[in-house]
Amino acid sequence: MPTVTESPIEAYASCHNGRCAGYKQQPVQAIRTLTEFSYVDFGGDVPGIERSTDLIRFADEADEPCPVCGEPRLVSDQVRPIYPNVSGVPQDRLLHVNDDSERVRDMQLSDAKREAEMAQMRALMERQAAAIERQQNQIERLSEPRRGPGRPRKVEE
Ligand SMILES: [Zn+2]
Repeated sequence: MPTVTESPIEAYASCHNGRCAGYKQQPVQAIRTLTEFSYVDFGGDVPGIERSTDLIRFADEADEPCPVCGEPRLVSDQVRPIYPNVSGVPQDRLLHVNDDSERVRDMQLSDAKREAEMAQMRALMERQAAAIERQQNQIERLSEPRRGPGRPRKVEE
């Protein structure tokens, strides 16, 4: 049987969403559940703990929702690390990757729309040209003197 120990701890709560104002860690009361499996639990015969798991949860469930966006928050016993910016790339670069691709996508979309409109225009122009040619032919046919095979020739005497 594993040994389960629960203890109240000081922890940090933060929103999942890096863009939310609740992303900054806030101190909060939490409960740590430590579950320890000894070597004996797994059939061994040496003393000591073979493995353990750590679970941290809010002491008061009312602390769970983010005060800004209402989504469930993370709770951790560790302060989120802040690394020195050695790359020169802004730390929130990844949060804005989508902005660029959205802009590119919008541009591609408007390009495609323009292309489609042009194609429609071309088709319309071709149809109009064909119609004009048909009308031209009709006018020419009508202005020609009538010489149909069905009409009997006037016999001159
Ligand atoms: Zn939030």
